[in-house]
Amino acid sequence: MKDSQNNDVRLEDILNTTPIAVSWSSLSSGRIEYINKAFNELFGFALDDILDVETWLLRISPHREYYQNIIAPWIEEYRSDVSAPDLKATLFCKDNSVRHIKMCFSTIGDKQLWYFNDVTDHWVAEERLRARSNMLEMVAKSSALKDILKVIVKQIQQESPLSLCSVLLFDKDEQCLRLGAAPDFPDIYNQAIDGVKVGLNVGSCGTAAYLGQRVIVEDIYVHPYWKDYTQLARQAEVAACWSDPIMSSKGDLLGTFAIYKRSVSAPSEKDFELINFASHLASIAIESFRAQEALQKKADFDHLTELANRGYFFQQCEVLINKSIDDHSPFAILMMDVDHFKKINDQFGHKTGDLVLQKLASMSLSILRRDDLIARIGGEEFAILLPFTEKNEALLIAERLRASIESSMVLSLDHQNVFFTVSLGVACRQDGSGTVDDILNKADKALYQSKAAGRNCVFSVEGSINFRF
Ligand code: GH3
Ligand code: MG
Ligand code: MG
Repeated sequence: MKDSQNNDVRLEDILNTTPIAVSWSSLSSGRIEYINKAFNELFGFALDDILDVETWLLRISPHREYYQNIIAPWIEEYRSDVSAPDLKATLFCKDNSVRHIKMCFSTIGDKQLWYFNDVTDHWVAEERLRARSNMLEMVAKSSALKDILKVIVKQIQQESPLSLCSVLLFDKDEQCLRLGAAPDFPDIYNQAIDGVKVGLNVGSCGTAAYLGQRVIVEDIYVHPYWKDYTQLARQAEVAACWSDPIMSSKGDLLGTFAIYKRSVSAPSEKDFELINFASHLASIAIESFRAQEALQKKADFDHLTELANRGYFFQQCEVLINKSIDDHSPFAILMMDVDHFKKINDQFGHKTGDLVLQKLASMSLSILRRDDLIARIGGEEFAILLPFTEKNEALLIAERLRASIESSMVLSLDHQNVFFTVSLGVACRQDGSGTVDDILNKADKALYQSKAAGRNCVFSVEGSINFRF
């Protein structure tokens, strides 16, 4: 470089043919004096756009702290050395696209030579591999679905730092979308989105879920899909939203994956690739989770009535009694048994008997409260756990069950009306004493008393005093 004009020209020609971005600056003035063709192609900057390397690196860093904590100390440490070791950095090009760069510099006389190697494709491939194996590991360890989805969202946001991402989960029963993971959206936005109906013109995600196809909204504020949600978008400070339906391997809708942008934007080829990757990853996570959930349900629930089974009931009793020991909260247990069920089977057949059990289960569920738990613990025997419930309230609930079951019926296979009744026993833990077994025994005893008293009634045993409701 200190050589003749002829040599300078030749060196520039040579450097213009190298695929690595190269520049040099004057050590004394700090000014950039030369950038090669690859530099201009990689970053989009011309020589006139750049004064000195350090100001330029600060400008293209994701934020000031990134430059101050990562790039500036590296420059400082090796400033007086002949050469600096590679530094991997995330930098922005002139068009705001993100590149992952391996850079280094060396000093020759008054010139500082800079090399910038674009390793984005390699970085992306490595990161995606890592994301996939992280996700699979979490799935294998049965981590909570929301945690897995959060890791996926964070991963995509890292790859695309100017994006905000969200995963919504499809709730088939309610035909709506539930919040899966949107860790960087304001709470107010997440609350408003949770439970949003699947349908046309319900933002990008509601519409993508409805159509079963990708929805690209480049400008939220003018698009009909977002007509009713512009205020919400303003609160989240987003202007574009590209949403992909997440489908299972069987083609069922599982949810949506969305990339939001702060400014009006159209996706590039690379963005499409990223959306595909993210939706695929999320679909594996959701599908595995649902499969595990179904297996667990099989283990915990009775297939005829779809109520909890005996094992699950006792497990929940233990959870509740520990809570009750901690905070002295009361709870009640009801035992419920179908009256003369054998006769129903004998008279109308076993299949009709099954219908009675199913009807009884659905009726009970419609009467019980959200946090109550009913389980089928034997052939025609049911146990009901009523958290935070005192005796009088438990008796009322038991009586409500008895009365509505008494007034219901099923149709036998030969179209006869089949009526049925139940007897119930009630026991409570409200004075802070008694094990689960004690309470169950009391409820059983009370049930026995209901049977002995003629069936179709509710009893509770408190000490030696029998109480007939
Ligand atoms: P009680 O009023 O004293 O409870 O008389 P019960 O006839 O209901 O009681 P018992 O214990 O004599 O008979 C229970 C019957 O429940 C016997 C059994 O065949 C029937 N059962 C148990 N499981 C099922 C089931 O899954 N389906 C049907 N249809 N019947 C069942
Ligand atoms: Mg019975
Ligand atoms: Mg029985």
